[in-house]
Amino acid sequence: MKRKRTMHSWFASSSNTLPIVPESNVAPINVIVQPTPIENIIPDDPTNESTNPSVDESTNPTSNERTNPPTDESTNQPAPPTQYILEFHPSQIFGDPADRIPIEDYAPKIRSEVRRAYLLKERNKASGHKFEVTLDGKIWRSFQPQWLDRFVWLEYSVAKEAAFCFPCFLFMKPSHAATFGNDVFTIDGYKRWKTAFASFQKHVGGPSSYHNIARGSCDDFKNQRANVATKFRAHTKESEIKYKIRLTASLDCARYLIAQGEAFRGHDESSDSVNKGNFTEFLDWYKDKNKDVKDAFDNGQGNALMICSQIQKDLATCCALEVTKVIKNELEDKNFVILVHEARDCSMKEQMAIILRFLDDSGELQERFLAIKHITDCTSAGIKEALFYVSKYHGLSNNRLRG
Ligand SMILES: [Zn+2]
Repeated sequence: MKRKRTMHSWFASSSNTLPIVPESNVAPINVIVQPTPIENIIPDDPTNESTNPSVDESTNPTSNERTNPPTDESTNQPAPPTQYILEFHPSQIFGDPADRIPIEDYAPKIRSEVRRAYLLKERNKASGHKFEVTLDGKIWRSFQPQWLDRFVWLEYSVAKEAAFCFPCFLFMKPSHAATFGNDVFTIDGYKRWKTAFASFQKHVGGPSSYHNIARGSCDDFKNQRANVATKFRAHTKESEIKYKIRLTASLDCARYLIAQGEAFRGHDESSDSVNKGNFTEFLDWYKDKNKDVKDAFDNGQGNALMICSQIQKDLATCCALEVTKVIKNELEDKNFVILVHEARDCSMKEQMAIILRFLDDSGELQERFLAIKHITDCTSAGIKEALFYVSKYHGLSNNRLRG
């Protein structure tokens, strides 16, 4: 059965610091709510895609060394797969290098997660496996397990009976891997055991070889605690928490003032004023009572304090919309009567207050303040037009209107 929210439950919910607020009809404001901009946006999970500058492979085809300045990766990289794997699942992490899905097949935002899973699994040493022996000329040769200790990046595929490079699989760009047979250690696997030792050394190459760049990326990735991106992400996370505390505190104050029908603003809201108005004074009281709130306001960013007059209006509008939702939820598809009261406000504007009258589920008469509407034409036709506008705005059917 659908659980209905009542006016009381709406005001009493989600605040554990405020006193219980008595039931009250709150006048919604006829303003379309503008969402408050969120200042702190957490960046996407960073990948190490940008840590290794790309290289133009059209030059120097005989060297394994990085010789050119970085170029735009988008111009240098093979066309990405038409469809990325968008969701990571641990079952996609295979120990055997021959079974693995290339990192670039995953969507960029989940590649870090995939790499982390592989690094946790570590390189495949094929422990206990009886390495295949092949006849090379007249000599039987096989992979030597001691190579795994000599080369800390080396791993072995049981499926292909071949040697692979773990960091190159994780971090070498596809454009690099396709150059000069680098993909031997990432895609095909190396199995010429006669020249294996020399080939492994050649694969490592000099300090700026593709392999060493990939290994550097791998080390950086493991050491992300010291990474600038991680520090930045941690900082924004903290800022976001403080922002939410400020927003919630301001909203709590706004809800209380709306429920009590009190004015928000004061005549003098300057910092040395003895009475800065209800909202600011209440917020100051709140800060004194709650250490977290005080910390969020005093030590947070200065550009999103959530206390300016526009924010107060936005909060009031959001509350009005929520109250209207509760009223409409109470009304459901029942018949209703509208009470209209016409009055001038202090600025001599003609206002029309609209109150809904209906019988609730238990048969009791309920009156709910729905809206207040400024009218320019005080004739009966003008009032009728304004009334229909309000009922249409709130999605009320005129067929259910009685009286
Ligand atoms: Zn490598």
